[in-house]
Amino acid sequence: MTSDSKSLPLHTKILLGLLIGTVLGLAARGIAISPVDGVATSGGGFREWLGANLEFIATHIAEPVGKIFLRLIMMMVIPLVVSALALGVLELGDVRRLGIVGLRTLLYTLILSGSAVAIGVGLTNFFQPGSTLPPEQRELLSERYGAKAAQAVAQRKQAKNIRDTLLDLIPENPLQEAVGALDGSSKGNGMLAVMFFSLFLGAALAVTGPVADPLVKVLEGLFAVSMTVIGWAMRIAPYGVACLLFAITSQIGFEILKTLGWFVATALGGMLLQFLVVYSTMLWFVAKRSPRQFVTDTSDALITAFGTSSSNATLPTALRVAEENLKLPKEISQFVLTIGSTANQNGTALYEGVVVLFLAQVFGVDLTMSQQVVVVLMSVLAGVGTAGVPGGSIPLIVIVLQSVGVPGEGIGIILGIDRLLDMCRTVLNVGGDLVLAACVGRPNKS
Ligand code: ASP
Repeated sequence: MTSDSKSLPLHTKILLGLLIGTVLGLAARGIAISPVDGVATSGGGFREWLGANLEFIATHIAEPVGKIFLRLIMMMVIPLVVSALALGVLELGDVRRLGIVGLRTLLYTLILSGSAVAIGVGLTNFFQPGSTLPPEQRELLSERYGAKAAQAVAQRKQAKNIRDTLLDLIPENPLQEAVGALDGSSKGNGMLAVMFFSLFLGAALAVTGPVADPLVKVLEGLFAVSMTVIGWAMRIAPYGVACLLFAITSQIGFEILKTLGWFVATALGGMLLQFLVVYSTMLWFVAKRSPRQFVTDTSDALITAFGTSSSNATLPTALRVAEENLKLPKEISQFVLTIGSTANQNGTALYEGVVVLFLAQVFGVDLTMSQQVVVVLMSVLAGVGTAGVPGGSIPLIVIVLQSVGVPGEGIGIILGIDRLLDMCRTVLNVGGDLVLAACVGRPNKS
């Protein structure tokens, strides 16, 4: 997802898209809407023309153009999820070879990811950053995107208690679940059921032996092709983000930016908590290390993660610091860090929880308890299925959004500031892998 070397980097372009779209949207609104009574201005000329046509421009031109790149991403979501998760679990299949080390890796991964999502979901429920949008503007947004959301929510709410939600994790017909996964029309749990199917596919591939190798190759090809198409989509993302931000700010005005500020503060606060509280606790009590010394020892990897926004690109540095500075046994750090760079993405899992709840609040979608359980489970799984590349979590966030009835298009609201948060969550992802390696590697020390 990088652009060619001569032009600006993609994330800078997306940021520019965000700024240009926002400034144009606010300017158009300032010109067209009377500040006194909030209705379209009259008086002739361009102002009047804009006053009469701004809504049309926003909803019939800017918004559909802005959605093109999202559609391209969504088009690849199912193949991406199936291949990424199955291949991720296939790698985890080595668990059997490493026995106890594998089990501990799995256990700590679940603890770290689970606590990350719980922190994200808890903070967003507590601070309600999405509810800082004034009610009239929230209504406006949900009116625009709401029909789809309401329909999906209604379908979701039908006879769904926690027992059924859990039982429906196992799909009777995975293809049917895949068909209905993105629009909420599936009979069971939609995307979550597809994810479970993929997990089992990966587990079965790991134990089936060489006869299944061609299928592994197909999945590897499918994953690579999905990433290529998503890379194309990301190239037009700067224009899409500009259009989406124009559509939103010209309709909603400055308030949406304040709301976004609260969102960033909640996400960063959650990441800080995970790092300072959860990681420190694990380091003190399980790895028996000083958290301060740990940060000093791993700083090279943490800084690389911040700079590259990619767990995969940071893997070589993480392996080096694990061996040279943390003095972990090589075979353990290799195993844990390699798997962790894809499967143990705490920062991403936390962020996904925050985004989904935040956008649900923005759109006024009330999530029931069992829907929040779905968000937590999906975010943990999405942490496993996310590619360790910049923006790798975007397609998965769209899925989680749709599966609980929040319009996927809403992601346009946060995409412009995503890169900054991506840098931060990647630090958490890589930090979490190293914490994991330190915890698992401890008994083999000295
Ligand atoms: N950039 C993240 C990583 O590589 C993935 C994501 O959250 O988008 O770890």
